[in-house]
Amino acid sequence: MKRNRRKRRSIILIILVIAAALGIAVFYYLTTPQITLTGEKVMEVTMADGYKEPGAEARFSFKDISKYIVIDSHVNDRKVGTYKVIYSVEYLGKSDEKERIVNVVDREPPEITLTGGNTIELRPGQKFTDPGATAIDDSDGDVTANIAAKGFVDIYNKGTYEVEYSVSDSYGNEGKVVRSITVKGEPLEMEKKTIYLTFDDGPSTEVTAQILKVLKKEKVPATFFIIDYGNDKDKINLLKQALKQGCTIGIHGYSHNYSEIYASVPAFMNNIAMLHDKVKLDLGYDAFAIRFPGGSSNTVSKDYKKGVMTKLVRTVQKEGYMYNDWNVDSTDASGNNVAVKSLVDSVKSECNPEDYNVILMHDSDAKETTAKALPIIIKWAKEEGYSFKAMKPDSPTVHHGVNN
Ligand code: ZN
Repeated sequence: MKRNRRKRRSIILIILVIAAALGIAVFYYLTTPQITLTGEKVMEVTMADGYKEPGAEARFSFKDISKYIVIDSHVNDRKVGTYKVIYSVEYLGKSDEKERIVNVVDREPPEITLTGGNTIELRPGQKFTDPGATAIDDSDGDVTANIAAKGFVDIYNKGTYEVEYSVSDSYGNEGKVVRSITVKGEPLEMEKKTIYLTFDDGPSTEVTAQILKVLKKEKVPATFFIIDYGNDKDKINLLKQALKQGCTIGIHGYSHNYSEIYASVPAFMNNIAMLHDKVKLDLGYDAFAIRFPGGSSNTVSKDYKKGVMTKLVRTVQKEGYMYNDWNVDSTDASGNNVAVKSLVDSVKSECNPEDYNVILMHDSDAKETTAKALPIIIKWAKEEGYSFKAMKPDSPTVHHGVNN
């Protein structure tokens, strides 16, 4: 009986051992490593913040096997795109693999740096030359060429003006910087005893030729605010001659017809651009100055578009043109061939030796007396000690003030 009992016990033991071994075998057969990602399965990161690997954990049943994880990251957080990070683990001949999607996005606008600082001070009448700006973007690199500047500085009126510089990157992030320009203090010193001779409405074959002859003889320059000269070779040659003599050419307008040119801002600007481009083509000359037909103070434009002059004085300057009215009127526009003496007397009485003098004259066909008065005016002015200049981009300007 005793032997039998011992034998039975041995069998039970053997069965238990076999069962345990089988159990362990089944456990290992059924158990696989499991990776769990830390953080989101799909992540969005900005280029500015960059990608910081959040990692993962791995278990084999209750055993932590995280240290066996291999991370294969393809993320380039300096470039917008969708990237994969692959996590894999191998343990006891078994493996697991998980994937994370990382979207790298650009939320940073380009950085704009203002050349010459964020504030500029000018004295009244001092020319404002925009020193510009540069811009760097984390995605696009140098985007300086795309910067747009918006704003207007009225250098003749004291005050603070703003120019806004903006630029976007290719992901639509817009950078903006504002520069403030303050016009203050005493006006720039006047150019005393200076005369700017200006002739409007030409060129005309006869009168412009006579005027150029006088200017050449007296070695005096002038500025011609011209209208369209058609395809007239003689007129083109006169303009070339004027440039050769040191004169400058401004734009009066392709057309002088008030109802057309003052119908709207675009109509006026187009009228300027047409002649500007034609002059550039025919003479290789980039005209920088304009004179408004009727002057900036004209009220005739009210009949065609209310408020158009208020907008135009700003628009022309924004487009890079200087505009110049006059402060001495020869009165040759008061009729055709006004008496020489009358023209000379007007100029003599209006010229101010303490100021710069922009004299309005005309060189259209019916202004022969202007050409005749010119040598007398020049002779008188020279005797009085005046010097003559042609208008340049940095010349002082006369602005009448807007009445419409
Ligand atoms: Zn005119």
